[in-house]
Amino acid sequence: MYLNKDIVKEGNQILRNKSAKVSLPLSNADFNCLKGLYEYVVISSMDDLVKQYDIRPGVGIAAPQVGVNKRMFSMNAVDFLDEKQTRYLFAIINPTIVQKSKEMTYLPGGEGCLSVDRSTDGLVTPRHYAITAKCSIYDFNTNKIKTVTLKLEGYPAIVFQHEYDHLDGILYTDKMYTLKELDPNVFPLYEEAEE
Ligand code: ZN
Repeated sequence: MYLNKDIVKEGNQILRNKSAKVSLPLSNADFNCLKGLYEYVVISSMDDLVKQYDIRPGVGIAAPQVGVNKRMFSMNAVDFLDEKQTRYLFAIINPTIVQKSKEMTYLPGGEGCLSVDRSTDGLVTPRHYAITAKCSIYDFNTNKIKTVTLKLEGYPAIVFQHEYDHLDGILYTDKMYTLKELDPNVFPLYEEAEE
């Protein structure tokens, strides 16, 4: 196992540093870190494993959150609004967002973060609805790295932007608004069901 459960919490300077580009091919240390991030999000998606490994589940985790200021993260986000329920499971290295939609959206329930233990209920974080990113992706099945252009929209795009921000020392809590404060052009990703 490469899993690292020792999550750096809000208030620690490591989460505020701008992370450094990763050299390729990966060093052993960088490989171990990335594999650990990948295991974290894979385990997170399986309830029995979440219990077994006693972790707080997350759909994304970035290297600074395990104490490594390198530009890497993993995400495992199912696009629950898509009828195909497509899963976006990636181990990402050196991402650059090259295009952002003007359309902005937010998760009506707000975001969460493994590094933030306090409740931020009622506050939402605006994100670009769609992004295009260039990055390297590590494929743990073939042990190969490929350079790709990812076009994401909706939920997976929000997760990507949250993780990407970690590489620049930004937390979602830095960009939170109440619904009243929010620019009226920013729309909810979905309508929340009434209770
Ligand atoms: Zn986070």
